[in-house]
Amino acid sequence: MGFVKGLKCRECGREYSVDPIYVCEFCFGPLEVAYDYDGIKGVLTREKILSRPQNLWRYKELLPIDGEPTSGLNSGFTPLVRADKLGAHLGMKRLYIKDDTVTHPTLSFKDRVVAVALTKAREFGFNTVACASTGNLAHSVSAHGAAGGFKRFIFIPATLEKSKIIASLVYGPNLIAVDGNYDDVNRLCSEVANKYKWAFVNINIRPFYAEGSKTHGYEIVEQLGWRSPDAVVVPCASGSLLTKIWKSFKEMKEVGLINDVNTKVFAAQATGCSPIVAAIKAGVDVIKPVKPNTIAKSLAIGNPADGYYATQVVKESGGFGADVSDKEIIEAIKLLARTEGIFGETAGGVTLASAMKLIESGHIDKEALTVLCITGNGLKTKEAVVGHTGEPYHINPNLKSFEEALEKINSK
Ligand SMILES: *Cc1c(COP(=O)(O)O)cnc(C)c1O
Ligand SMILES: [Zn+2]
Repeated sequence: MGFVKGLKCRECGREYSVDPIYVCEFCFGPLEVAYDYDGIKGVLTREKILSRPQNLWRYKELLPIDGEPTSGLNSGFTPLVRADKLGAHLGMKRLYIKDDTVTHPTLSFKDRVVAVALTKAREFGFNTVACASTGNLAHSVSAHGAAGGFKRFIFIPATLEKSKIIASLVYGPNLIAVDGNYDDVNRLCSEVANKYKWAFVNINIRPFYAEGSKTHGYEIVEQLGWRSPDAVVVPCASGSLLTKIWKSFKEMKEVGLINDVNTKVFAAQATGCSPIVAAIKAGVDVIKPVKPNTIAKSLAIGNPADGYYATQVVKESGGFGADVSDKEIIEAIKLLARTEGIFGETAGGVTLASAMKLIESGHIDKEALTVLCITGNGLKTKEAVVGHTGEPYHINPNLKSFEEALEKINSK
């Protein structure tokens, strides 16, 4: 058995038993998983973690499952890349990339949340899984669900990038393209989830699903040699990942894996969909929903479920937020690729471009040990950089033609 005590309302603190539920019946606040940290302390030691396979389940005592994991056995434990070339470009001496562009099997951090959600769905006895997705979640539920033998219903906005639609269909789910934006899809899915008793990973399974994001943070701490960074820059859609990275650092302190947490948490969004950053900048607690208009479709949630909690984490930790234009996103995708050899998707461009603004404005100290969360792979959203990458040198298959091209290259 695990160390889960139950579910707890984030607003009124009322406690619930472990069930596929997500809102408090009394105050409609969101439910969150509560753990017996005293029980975990001394059981989950650094030695125990280091002795386990390099996947996200090495921290399983801090994840909301009762038995052994059944999904995502190869997910997580992505590289923490020391980014000296990019750092030199930005004037940063200790810059790192947490590189979830290579998460197994669908190349985004969503494989973490889905690994936990599907393990829990199986424990609850569901055989159909579903989700409302901005793109990456569709891939991940389609893939993990296929491997786990689940029936799958995947709801997406019909305007999603063509390549993201193909990369979901290939796994053979029931893909439902909704005429509307993500917020419309999400609203529809809440109705469907009420009527059909399926495991909607980011609706009725959300309290468990969201816990998977903590593993991104645990790994950062372990890979830095058991310390939390001075600054972390996190891309925000619903705001869940940001709040869970903070929770992961605090939990590691709580169970005695690290001594203290002095991390400032920074939120990154596209200007075309920045309800969380707008609230942070204005210094208000109320999130004003927006209509998304940005190339960063994976972050395009206009009415973010965890937006309020994300602003509270940023405030509590002493961080801030930045938002960036589509042009800045594209430039940052190229900069990351050219300096570190990492091709991030649009969300990665949002993170790097936002970090650059925060360094420029002095919110991130140049001496700070800083981690940028790069959460998805650029091969999934090639459309975003089409027309911005330059062209190949087109030649005939002979040496003369090559050398003419070489002359052009050398005279550049
Ligand atoms: C979903 C997603 C995020 C952030 O998600 P939250 O809803 O804020 O937890 C970040 N990056 C990528 C690539 C994503 O797909
Ligand atoms: Zn409540």
